[in-house]
Amino acid sequence: MLVAEDLSAVGGISLSAAVPVLTAMDYQVAALPTSLLSTHTSGYGTPAIVDLSAWLPQVFKHWTTAQLDFQQALIGYVGSVALCQLLTDYLTKQSLELLVVDPVLGDLGRLYDGFDAAYVVAMRQLIKPADVILPNVTEACLLTGTPYQSQPELAPLLQQLQQQLKSGAQAIITDVTQDDQIGCAWLANDQVQFSGQQRLPGHYNGTGDTLAAVLAGLLGRGYSLERSIRLANQWLNQAVAATLAQHRASERQGIALSGILREILALDQG
Ligand code: ADP
Ligand code: MG
Repeated sequence: MLVAEDLSAVGGISLSAAVPVLTAMDYQVAALPTSLLSTHTSGYGTPAIVDLSAWLPQVFKHWTTAQLDFQQALIGYVGSVALCQLLTDYLTKQSLELLVVDPVLGDLGRLYDGFDAAYVVAMRQLIKPADVILPNVTEACLLTGTPYQSQPELAPLLQQLQQQLKSGAQAIITDVTQDDQIGCAWLANDQVQFSGQQRLPGHYNGTGDTLAAVLAGLLGRGYSLERSIRLANQWLNQAVAATLAQHRASERQGIALSGILREILALDQG
């Protein structure tokens, strides 16, 4: 499986979280950083960043020459319009069984720093070849041009997302609140489905990245969409609970992953 997203040396999110999760699921992982950061961007001040946009075309060129073919791919934080286009081109040429795109654009109704309308347009291209996309509510609104609401009407939003995807592909909105629960919403037979777990106190870094890795891994292993989403929400909830139980002095380090790894290994044995 090709996993392309930022590599933040400190903070335990994105690529650092996806690699152990997918390795525990027995994937051979090609870990492709889309940019290098000294830390992730939440809680450590301004990170030292290396822009890899000159290196990535060389990577794809080499991989093409070496005839490396990936069966699955998971795309997270990309970072620039040029890189979105480069990835779109490369991925469309691969014959992938599964392409999962987490269209990282923003949160809480706002684009992340450094992103603009042109970036949203580039992301709309990158989701086109996807089998599964995992926008949060903010990203779902941005992709569809819907004014942001924290608790939007889900059916029209999901329908508009589906229209941007190829037939058979599935949009899953990831940070949906229903009563005291947080979870995922998607469409099945035109009906909105929801699977969630109790929302625990606090805000955590890397939950979305880990959820994306777990879902990509389970779907690639042939678990049904519904089973994959249920397991992913369950495991994320346990990981957040385990993180809370550590009584950390700071919230900036990503969630505790070892419980998820144990669940994955138990699943494979059972
Ligand atoms: P991100 O903002 O990193 O993209 P999300 O907020 O979408 O992440 O969370 C992804 C998943 O992580 C949720 O669907 C849920 O399963 C879990 N999660 C996130 N925050 C909490 C929380 N406070 N309590 C329980 N589970 C959570
Ligand atoms: Mg997210």
